[in-house]
Amino acid sequence: MKNYLMLVCAASLALGACQSNQSKKELIKPVFSANDMDFNMNPGENFYQYANGGWMKQHPLPDDKSRFGSFDLLAEESKEKVKTIVEKAAAEKGAEGTLSQKIGDFYNAGMNLEAINTAGYTPIKPLLDKVAAIDSKEGIVNVISDLQEQQLTPLFYFYSSADQKNSEMTIAGIYQGGLGMPDRDYYLSDDETSVKLREAYVLYLTKLFALSGNAEDEAAELANTVMAFETQLAEASNTRLQNRDPHATYNKMDVTKLVDLAPEFPWNEFLAGINMPEPGDINVSQPAFIKEVASMYQNESIDTWKAFLSSVVVRKTATLLSEDFVNANFAFYGEALSGQKAQEPRWKKVLGNTSSALGEAVGQLFVAEYFPPAAKQRMDDLVENLRIAFGQRIDQLEWMSDETKAAAHEKLAAIRVKIGYPNKWRDYSALSISDDSYVNNILASNRFDFAHDMGKVGKPVDKDEWHMFPQTVNAYYSPVGNEVVFPAAILQPPFFYLDGDDAVNYGAIGVVIGHEMTHGFDDQGRLYGKDGNLQTWWTDEDAERFNARTQILVDQFNKIEVLPGTFADGELSLGENIADLGGLTISYQAYQNAIKDKGEITDIDGFTDEQRFFLAYSRVWAQNIRDKEILRRTKTDVHSLGINRVNGPLPNMEEFYQAFKLDNTAALYITPENRASIW
Ligand SMILES: [Zn+2]
Repeated sequence: MKNYLMLVCAASLALGACQSNQSKKELIKPVFSANDMDFNMNPGENFYQYANGGWMKQHPLPDDKSRFGSFDLLAEESKEKVKTIVEKAAAEKGAEGTLSQKIGDFYNAGMNLEAINTAGYTPIKPLLDKVAAIDSKEGIVNVISDLQEQQLTPLFYFYSSADQKNSEMTIAGIYQGGLGMPDRDYYLSDDETSVKLREAYVLYLTKLFALSGNAEDEAAELANTVMAFETQLAEASNTRLQNRDPHATYNKMDVTKLVDLAPEFPWNEFLAGINMPEPGDINVSQPAFIKEVASMYQNESIDTWKAFLSSVVVRKTATLLSEDFVNANFAFYGEALSGQKAQEPRWKKVLGNTSSALGEAVGQLFVAEYFPPAAKQRMDDLVENLRIAFGQRIDQLEWMSDETKAAAHEKLAAIRVKIGYPNKWRDYSALSISDDSYVNNILASNRFDFAHDMGKVGKPVDKDEWHMFPQTVNAYYSPVGNEVVFPAAILQPPFFYLDGDDAVNYGAIGVVIGHEMTHGFDDQGRLYGKDGNLQTWWTDEDAERFNARTQILVDQFNKIEVLPGTFADGELSLGENIADLGGLTISYQAYQNAIKDKGEITDIDGFTDEQRFFLAYSRVWAQNIRDKEILRRTKTDVHSLGINRVNGPLPNMEEFYQAFKLDNTAALYITPENRASIW
């Protein structure tokens, strides 16, 4: 699995630059506007508010968003650029089979709301009829395979990835799935929010069944059947925390062993159905879950399976059907789960699907239009400077033995770097797209992606492949590839200022680079060696000392109350919090190296370089968020909330206190012996 970034003075002012009105007036663009800050807040009390209070005020949550931050603002800008590209393709009607024809037709089909509304659920009727026609156990597995190939993934994900212990080779994998709510906890927790959401989910399923041709009372019964079925799956599912353990989720077996593990499921029929009769080794991430699926295959009635499989078909295509389906989907996933008040405009949703179904086709045009070669050169330099700084930090670590340090250096040197866009683009010639049917285009694209994914099984890993599109505002580290990847779209403000000064670039994109590199050395990443294999390269003593240090971070975050009575999950977010603190520490070191060479020490916008470093970092995480979304993310997101990505790691850094002249009276102050210092 990959690690995404993302995916980021009560009245008396305690420091220099922002003390007087005079300096405030001098705070002009390019980077920090006084308007974006909150000078009524003491930086030592709530640095996040101090740095971003103005920005948050000026960017109230739009009704169609559950969270909106400077990160999202950049994503919106990227969407506008993609829109220009896609609309041009849609208008010009390219020759059949060209990328432009595919992009244009895909978008046009999705925007043709009149035709979509007229069609109602007829585009998925053939799939529902297949489910309805099931009259035997064999019939069930045939439909499961059929849905799997179209990536409607009824029970579990079936995918390809590098073998975690032989990272040069691609093998198949099975990963738990089958739930319509975002996590097992929603099915099993007794808290009020979860109970209410379960009721809302059953109503949602009822609505979907009613809209797709069932009588009201029948629909309600079917919904309850599905809820009971999914609850069983939830009970057998791993928690998110359990899924963060790469050893426990590594269970490689061949088909014979898989059949032994879960004999009640007809694996050979399933594999033949997805055109993978002999996949070789398969990693089964959650064996207990797969055993439960098999036992349900045996024990649940055909009617129960039919109810479940039809719910999968309708639920997973609801956003592509007529507006009554789209609205029902929004009422649950948007409103009930995330507190969103209005839907995104249709063009954004269709654009999002176009941009992911034809990701590298759109990406090629995006890069040609919007990614200057100079940006790549500047990034190459920054990444190498971060690598040097990381190496210096490793040398300075007091808690790590020389033996482990040597191995850490080897791993650091081996990190591969991808910037902007892939060396070679994906070939879409086998994918047919027309302007007839939005649903059919999506399903065709899903089938195309699934076949592509399966085509890699049993072959050497393609090191040139990207797992993110150039137009995506994000970045990732892959432990099994030991690589950091920065798509073109993130290389813009507030992350990356092509003409910006060092303090700001190291504070923003520098920390992002350091963050991604640190993922190779966080509580999960450190379990992989330099070649991306799950292997031990630490001495036991070093591992113990590492765990003691990360425990400090766990305890710090567990104490953060995100809403009255609800606390952050320090264990679930540990990897990301290590990466944030590591990214900051390493990039600060790199920045010090940079100004040592250049002798650049200046005040810009009324702030010292050191202050600008921390302000630039904080600006990346400026955001507003709804309470429901806070609850959802606290349960499901490995990343901390924006405020805690700032106020969480910074007080662990002495340099932060010094930059803003904060002493031990500051509310954020942590005594030196209680600070986390890892990388
Ligand atoms: Zn991350």
